Amino acid sequence: MDWLTHFIWHDGKFLGVEWHFWKVVGWVGNILFTSRFFVQWWATEKHKRVVVPAAFWWLSMAGSGCLLLYGLDRRDSVFIFAYLFTWIPYVRNLMIGARAKKSEVTCSHCTALGPTGAKFCPECGVKLDLSPATA
Ligand SMILES: [Zn+2]
Repeated sequence: MDWLTHFIWHDGKFLGVEWHFWKVVGWVGNILFTSRFFVQWWATEKHKRVVVPAAFWWLSMAGSGCLLLYGLDRRDSVFIFAYLFTWIPYVRNLMIGARAKKSEVTCSHCTALGPTGAKFCPECGVKLDLSPATA
Protein backbone atom coordinates (compact mmCIF):
# COMPACT_ATOMS: atom_id res chain seq x y z
CA MET A 1 0.00 0.00 0.00
CA ASP A 2 3.02 2.26 0.37
CA TRP A 3 3.33 2.50 -3.41
CA LEU A 4 -0.28 3.68 -3.60
CA THR A 5 0.25 6.38 -0.98
CA HIS A 6 3.41 7.39 -2.84
CA PHE A 7 1.48 7.54 -6.14
CA ILE A 8 -1.42 9.59 -4.70
CA TRP A 9 0.56 12.03 -2.56
CA HIS A 10 4.31 12.59 -2.94
CA ASP A 11 6.55 15.65 -2.45
CA GLY A 12 3.51 17.86 -1.85
CA LYS A 13 2.05 16.78 -5.21
CA PHE A 14 -1.35 15.08 -5.64
CA LEU A 15 -1.20 12.46 -8.44
CA GLY A 16 2.18 13.88 -9.44
CA VAL A 17 0.69 17.33 -10.13
CA GLU A 18 1.68 20.47 -8.26
CA TRP A 19 -1.66 22.01 -7.28
CA HIS A 20 -2.47 25.68 -6.79
CA PHE A 21 -5.57 27.85 -7.26
CA TRP A 22 -5.18 28.43 -11.01
CA LYS A 23 -4.41 24.77 -11.62
CA VAL A 24 -7.76 23.93 -9.99
CA VAL A 25 -9.48 26.58 -12.17
CA GLY A 26 -7.89 25.00 -15.26
CA TRP A 27 -8.94 21.48 -14.27
CA VAL A 28 -12.48 22.59 -13.42
CA GLY A 29 -12.55 24.15 -16.91
CA ASN A 30 -11.35 20.88 -18.43
CA ILE A 31 -14.01 18.89 -16.55
CA LEU A 32 -16.81 21.31 -17.52
CA PHE A 33 -15.67 21.46 -21.15
CA THR A 34 -15.37 17.67 -21.44
CA SER A 35 -18.67 17.03 -19.63
CA ARG A 36 -20.54 18.88 -22.37
CA PHE A 37 -19.85 16.00 -24.77
CA PHE A 38 -21.50 13.53 -22.40
CA VAL A 39 -24.48 15.86 -21.89
CA GLN A 40 -24.94 16.16 -25.66
CA TRP A 41 -24.52 12.42 -26.18
CA TRP A 42 -27.07 11.68 -23.43
CA ALA A 43 -29.59 14.13 -24.96
CA THR A 44 -29.11 12.56 -28.39
CA GLU A 45 -29.60 9.02 -27.04
CA LYS A 46 -32.67 10.14 -25.08
CA HIS A 47 -34.34 11.75 -28.12
CA LYS A 48 -33.06 9.18 -30.65
CA ARG A 49 -31.88 12.03 -32.91
CA VAL A 50 -28.98 14.49 -32.79
CA VAL A 51 -29.78 17.06 -30.11
CA VAL A 52 -27.63 19.90 -28.74
CA PRO A 53 -29.24 20.97 -25.44
CA ALA A 54 -28.78 24.43 -23.91
CA ALA A 55 -26.71 22.77 -21.14
CA PHE A 56 -24.09 21.98 -23.82
CA TRP A 57 -23.63 25.70 -24.54
CA TRP A 58 -23.65 26.66 -20.84
CA LEU A 59 -20.99 24.02 -20.10
CA SER A 60 -19.01 25.20 -23.14
CA MET A 61 -19.10 28.78 -21.88
CA ALA A 62 -18.22 27.91 -18.26
CA GLY A 63 -15.47 25.49 -19.29
CA SER A 64 -13.86 27.78 -21.84
CA GLY A 65 -14.16 30.71 -19.39
CA CYS A 66 -12.19 28.75 -16.77
CA LEU A 67 -9.64 27.69 -19.39
CA LEU A 68 -9.29 31.30 -20.55
CA LEU A 69 -8.65 32.41 -16.95
CA TYR A 70 -6.09 29.63 -16.59
CA GLY A 71 -4.42 30.70 -19.85
CA LEU A 72 -4.36 34.33 -18.71
CA ASP A 73 -2.70 33.32 -15.44
CA ARG A 74 -0.13 31.23 -17.36
CA ARG A 75 0.27 34.08 -19.90
CA ASP A 76 -0.03 31.37 -22.55
CA SER A 77 -0.95 32.96 -25.87
CA VAL A 78 -2.10 29.61 -27.33
CA PHE A 79 -4.61 29.05 -24.50
CA ILE A 80 -5.73 32.69 -24.50
CA PHE A 81 -6.36 32.80 -28.24
CA ALA A 82 -8.05 29.36 -28.20
CA TYR A 83 -10.69 30.50 -25.68
CA LEU A 84 -10.89 34.28 -26.08
CA PHE A 85 -13.64 34.33 -28.72
CA THR A 86 -15.43 31.00 -28.22
CA TRP A 87 -18.11 32.63 -26.03
CA ILE A 88 -19.55 34.41 -29.10
CA PRO A 89 -21.13 31.33 -30.76
CA TYR A 90 -22.09 29.95 -27.32
CA VAL A 91 -24.07 33.08 -26.44
CA ARG A 92 -25.55 33.27 -29.94
CA ASN A 93 -26.66 29.61 -29.83
CA LEU A 94 -28.24 30.16 -26.39
CA MET A 95 -30.14 33.20 -27.76
CA ILE A 96 -31.35 31.30 -30.82
CA GLY A 97 -32.30 28.29 -28.66
CA ALA A 98 -34.29 30.46 -26.23
CA ARG A 99 -36.10 32.14 -29.13
CA ALA A 100 -36.90 28.75 -30.73
CA LYS A 101 -38.15 27.36 -27.41
CA LYS A 102 -40.62 30.25 -27.09
CA SER A 103 -42.16 29.33 -30.42
CA GLU A 104 -42.32 25.55 -29.85
CA VAL A 105 -45.73 23.92 -30.04
CA THR A 106 -46.96 21.39 -27.46
CA CYS A 107 -48.67 18.28 -28.80
CA SER A 108 -52.15 17.96 -27.31
CA HIS A 109 -51.98 14.16 -27.68
CA CYS A 110 -48.61 13.24 -26.06
CA THR A 111 -47.39 16.65 -24.67
CA ALA A 112 -44.12 16.42 -26.66
CA LEU A 113 -42.77 19.75 -27.94
CA GLY A 114 -42.72 20.28 -31.69
CA PRO A 115 -40.06 22.55 -33.22
CA THR A 116 -40.87 25.94 -34.69
CA GLY A 117 -42.99 25.59 -37.81
CA ALA A 118 -43.72 21.87 -37.28
CA LYS A 119 -47.15 20.84 -38.49
CA PHE A 120 -47.03 17.35 -36.96
CA CYS A 121 -45.76 16.03 -33.61
CA PRO A 122 -42.23 14.57 -33.95
CA GLU A 123 -43.12 11.93 -31.30
CA CYS A 124 -46.59 10.66 -32.18
CA GLY A 125 -47.32 12.21 -35.58
CA VAL A 126 -50.58 13.93 -34.57
CA LYS A 127 -51.34 17.24 -36.36
CA LEU A 128 -50.18 20.08 -34.08
CA ASP A 129 -52.29 22.98 -32.87
CA LEU A 130 -50.14 25.96 -33.98
CA SER A 131 -50.73 28.10 -30.86
CA PRO A 132 -47.41 28.76 -28.94
CA ALA A 133 -46.44 26.52 -25.99
CA THR A 134 -47.35 27.79 -22.53
CA ALA A 135 -44.81 25.70 -20.57
ZN1 LIG B 1 -47.51 14.00 -29.94
